[in-house]
Amino acid sequence: MGFDYAPAPESRAVVDIKGSYGLFINGEFTPTIDGTTFKSINPATEEVLAEITAAGSSDVDRAVAAARTAYETTWGRMPGAVRAKYLYRIARLIAERSRELAVLESIDNGKPIRESRDVDIPLVSAHFFYYAGWADKLGYAGFGADPRPIGVAAQVIPWNFPLLMLAWKIAPALACGNTVVLKPAETTPLTALLFAEICQQADLPPGVVNIITGAGETGRMLVEHPDVDKIAFTGSTAVGRAIAKSIAGTRKRLTLELGGKAANIVFDDAPIDQAVEGIVNGIFFNQGHVCCAGSRLLVQESIAPDVLDALKRRMALLRVGDPLDKNTDVGAINSAEQLSRIRELTDAGSAEGADAWSAPCELPDQGFWFRPTIFTGVSQAHRIAREEIFGPVLSVLTFRTPAEAIEKANNTPYGLSAGIWTDKGSRILAVADKLRAGVVWANTFNKFDPTSPFGGYKESGYGREGGRHGLEAYLAH
Ligand code: NAP
Ligand code: MG
Repeated sequence: MGFDYAPAPESRAVVDIKGSYGLFINGEFTPTIDGTTFKSINPATEEVLAEITAAGSSDVDRAVAAARTAYETTWGRMPGAVRAKYLYRIARLIAERSRELAVLESIDNGKPIRESRDVDIPLVSAHFFYYAGWADKLGYAGFGADPRPIGVAAQVIPWNFPLLMLAWKIAPALACGNTVVLKPAETTPLTALLFAEICQQADLPPGVVNIITGAGETGRMLVEHPDVDKIAFTGSTAVGRAIAKSIAGTRKRLTLELGGKAANIVFDDAPIDQAVEGIVNGIFFNQGHVCCAGSRLLVQESIAPDVLDALKRRMALLRVGDPLDKNTDVGAINSAEQLSRIRELTDAGSAEGADAWSAPCELPDQGFWFRPTIFTGVSQAHRIAREEIFGPVLSVLTFRTPAEAIEKANNTPYGLSAGIWTDKGSRILAVADKLRAGVVWANTFNKFDPTSPFGGYKESGYGREGGRHGLEAYLAH
């Protein structure tokens, strides 16, 4: 029997959500010229949080023009050491306002406060600190003695790590001397808008960072704008492909961070309790809304029954519910659309003959929720083994030999990440070498650090974000 926990809700009093928001262009919040409005909601309660502007084409023009002017008159000519001062200032302000940012992120996105507080926001601040350090050392980064910025970057990000994806995009772009126009996802614009206020607080010159909110159409107009020099996109493979097509034959440079279907491989000599923690972290972290989630468990056949028993026992202890409760492990699904996508794929899993097991837990009446679920009896041909579910759903497959594990792990159109659990260092090196994945974790999973490059193979995209590698996409070397 476990102990029952008293509720431990984080206070909402620390955030100040306005009734409506304009677009952040040239250092100011401005009303739209030819756009519309939409609402951002709290996915845990379906409460409307604020009215948000959807930028129209004249707004996109204005934002790109502001970024162009700032690039040519101030930011692109500024010495790296001066740019670094602004980036350090932003990093410090994020750290100072971290509680406010964490609460706002959890309210708008549905992720547990434990994760926004301990993972997302500390990494956001760390990213700005890290790239601030590069701003005056670009000549030593391996891209020539005096690498130049590219110009105006159009950046489009998804809803799963709203502020963290913003940091991955904006910090290296600014460190290298580019200016940016960023479009956050439709369902999670609020922390990007608070970041705009932080840019004001940091006295960042107008036009260096522009935030234009909106839906997919705003994103499309932004990336197709003729005065954009560089596009950085994180999101689905379908949209990434459409962007690549739309810019073919132009001089625009493109990096894509797309989906994944990572194999988390557990060998028979792995410490089972640690591996189970890693499996849980791999697929239930952030409700499984993680492009590099360990969504395919490959477990050696001889230990599969023991691992599955331990995994079910552990899953029964996961606390699903109020994202602002500090005890919550799994929060709300980000939107009604995402919930229906998860349901469609899990229904297909059952229809194709796999067996579902869900953690026994009560779900709130309001909001969007999905029980942590595993599928056994999965074959490689099943949709749940091939397609990205992007939810708290694990597909379990077994293998007998290392060669079979590698073949199954690589049998996917994606190649973003993978995990290996074994007692043998030599096996880690031998297997990692054969996995076609951008990141391979050994005896851990979902570990992130600003110094470490991240990115995909195959349909998971191209280009790297993070580390020294992350500078390359923003330098015209
Ligand atoms: P999505 O539809 O591709 O959306 C991503 C972003 O692109 C959003 O801001 C979206 O606006 C915008 N967008 C939509 N259509 C567009 C178009 N035609 N042109 C330009 N921008 C457009 O992806 P999602 O379903 O929201 O996000 C989940 C996906 O992102 C998953 O497949 C996941 O694997 C992937 N992801 C990858 C990484 C990575 O680092 N590799 C990280 C996180 C997520 P709206 O908000 O209005 O849709
Ligand atoms: Mg929202």
